[in-house]
Amino acid sequence: MPTTPIHTTMNQFVAAGDELLIGGLPISRLAERVGQTPFYAYDRELLRSRVAELRSTLPDRVKLHFAMKANPMPAVVGYMAGLVDGIDVASAGELKIALDAGADPHEISFAGPGKRISELRQAVAAGVLINIESFREIDLLAGISRELGLPARVAVRVNPDFELKGSGMKMGGGPKQFGVDAERVPELLAKIGELKLAFEGFHLFAGSQNLKAESICEAQQKSYELALALSRHAPSPVSFLNLGGGFGIPYFPGEQRLDLTSIGKNLEQLSQSAKVDFPGASLVIELGRYLVGEAGIYVSKVVDRKISRGQTFLVVDGGLNHHLSASGNFGQVIRKNYPVAIGNRMNAGNNETASVVGPLCTPLDILADRMTLAVAEPGDLVVIFQSGAYGASASPQRFLGHPEVIEILI
Ligand SMILES: *Cc1c(COP(=O)(O)O)cnc(C)c1O
Repeated sequence: MPTTPIHTTMNQFVAAGDELLIGGLPISRLAERVGQTPFYAYDRELLRSRVAELRSTLPDRVKLHFAMKANPMPAVVGYMAGLVDGIDVASAGELKIALDAGADPHEISFAGPGKRISELRQAVAAGVLINIESFREIDLLAGISRELGLPARVAVRVNPDFELKGSGMKMGGGPKQFGVDAERVPELLAKIGELKLAFEGFHLFAGSQNLKAESICEAQQKSYELALALSRHAPSPVSFLNLGGGFGIPYFPGEQRLDLTSIGKNLEQLSQSAKVDFPGASLVIELGRYLVGEAGIYVSKVVDRKISRGQTFLVVDGGLNHHLSASGNFGQVIRKNYPVAIGNRMNAGNNETASVVGPLCTPLDILADRMTLAVAEPGDLVVIFQSGAYGASASPQRFLGHPEVIEILI
């Protein structure tokens, strides 16, 4: 059967007749294969082609890391580990998944505020790079290095004195729990030297979900300059310079895809400068959402169809307990609808206004608020696109005690 691209920005998926295809399978058949709804499905081919697209646009010298908190499903991490140059973890739990997945410990870096002593010990024993976020971590690492007879590999996560403009979530600039304030980094570097930790470089991460290429370029430029200024205080040459990421994906009507070309050009210039300023160092960008977000869908089944005072509600078998982001409760200021389709009625046309709600007893449990959708009945499959990042693991699954969501990689 010929396939047809589905609308607008979600053109990574196609339909055959009424059925959305994922990994080449019609959605109804995939649901049978999975054996239950709700489920998340992530498409290998889309993950692979996203990395290939980045590789072709970004300079060869820039290393690509996967920030696995965006999607820590072990099969996804295992697949990504074979495609990218390194994995960024944010806890000992994620570290275990990355190591189990076969990621090279030398190419794993560990960031996050409030690392527990046990986590720091595990990270030193594993031989991964630790992004220092406080003075406390330095003292602890010095002790752990002595005890284990292994020098801790460290980079300094800098809380810059600027923000990533236009970012969905700011994670640097001003007072922050992340990293060490830029003005105190020279003091920290002196301590790293005194305590003889293995200093490797700097990590700067200014924010997340940014669709403005100029803002990302500006942040990378400023991060580079800040790292250069700070490197004068470093106890040894910089071999690792992580310029962050923050690349966003389009979720809502009117959002434009990020322009990678200008980011690629900017990184090319920076990597040329780095040959002189940081000889032998690797420039790294770390991406979560951008790598995995568009490769995933969340699929739930219509359980009930209700009309309340003229408004149509499709009640499905999973909601914010599985997909907090789509409900608008994961840091969004204004709730907007993720792209949604009735996955087994792709050809029906969009001919009614309906709200898709989950089964939880809270008015926050909305997956689609008054959207134009194909007319759906109980048993139909509701698909939420752009669901490959900050989905299952970023949702309160135990809330109300419904069954856990299943995740598959196809
Ligand atoms: C969350 C996080 C990322 C990933 O952010 P995305 O917006 O998903 O790309 C990268 N680096 C650090 C330090 C993070 O905390």
